[in-house]
Amino acid sequence: AKEDGRNLYRFFDRQMSLHMSERLALESELRRALERNEFIVYYQPQLDVHSGEITGMEALLRWNHPEHGLVPPDRFIPIAEDSGLILPIGAWVLRAACAQARTWRDSGLLDVQMAVNLSARQFDQQDLPELVASVIDGTGLPPDRLELELTESLVMRDPERSSETLSRCKALGLKIAVDDFGTGYSSLAYLRRFPIDRLKIDRSFIKDVVDEPDDAAIAQTIIAMAHSLRLTVVAEGVEDEAQLRLLQRWDCDIYQGFLSSRPQPADAITSLLLGMKAA
Ligand code: C2E
Ligand code: CA
Ligand code: CA
Ligand code: CA
Repeated sequence: AKEDGRNLYRFFDRQMSLHMSERLALESELRRALERNEFIVYYQPQLDVHSGEITGMEALLRWNHPEHGLVPPDRFIPIAEDSGLILPIGAWVLRAACAQARTWRDSGLLDVQMAVNLSARQFDQQDLPELVASVIDGTGLPPDRLELELTESLVMRDPERSSETLSRCKALGLKIAVDDFGTGYSSLAYLRRFPIDRLKIDRSFIKDVVDEPDDAAIAQTIIAMAHSLRLTVVAEGVEDEAQLRLLQRWDCDIYQGFLSSRPQPADAITSLLLGMKAA
């Protein structure tokens, strides 16, 4: 066990060089993590760019590792994806996030869309729409309060198949967002042939939007084009007021980022909501 721990530590330290033994150790740790309930969903508010009102939440997975503490998703999702463990883990996230959304809705604190990230393996699963339907049924969340986030590159991998899967999901009444938009090679006009509702401009364009004219031009163009195609636009990774002011000027719809709130556990979000209600 000591050996496993050291391997794991090395993995968390520098994820680039991952030996077979480390990979296997991490896989079995992940398997146990699911049984031992070590995963936790953090939530990050999405806000209306103009009014500041909360319009949604994104569910972001964390692993509360008994020895290594809070492990960010980038460190374990690739392995979960390779090993197929992302399927049970992803189903768990979906259920947890929908249940939380239902709880906030029932308490009268917040009735907004819950956005959940899907991985490639989940998206390829033949019975994805059935899984989503059963979660919606099981949690009693109105379907239009659920939004699935898929990356641009994932959707574009096999456009025909994606279009069909997305249509089957949309038929349940939920929303679809294209994540990390701008990092792939698709054109928005092409993407619009899919039944999508919303685009999320990748954080890399927002980061230097104030100082880099090229990034500003890209962000502004994405917003304008998305609007002309009747899509709403979310800017992610907004960290300061200057970035937000530009997004307001360009009439972006929604923003998300440390400026407003870091991702937090449900309890912390509940306190935040209670504070807002009291104010
Ligand atoms: P993403 O979907 O693009 O999520 C946005 C990431 O940006 C999150 O990182 C979030 O914490 C971070 N972020 C938000 N606001 C800011 C900001 O103002 N500045 C900066 N620097 N970062 C900000 P996180 O939570 O570490 O997640 C990383 C990635 O892991 C996600 O990227 C997503 O691709 C994946 N992921 C997270 N949860 C899940 C999940 O439940 N399932 C799957 N399949 N993937 C997930
Ligand atoms: Ca996302
Ligand atoms: Ca993103
Ligand atoms: Ca990303």
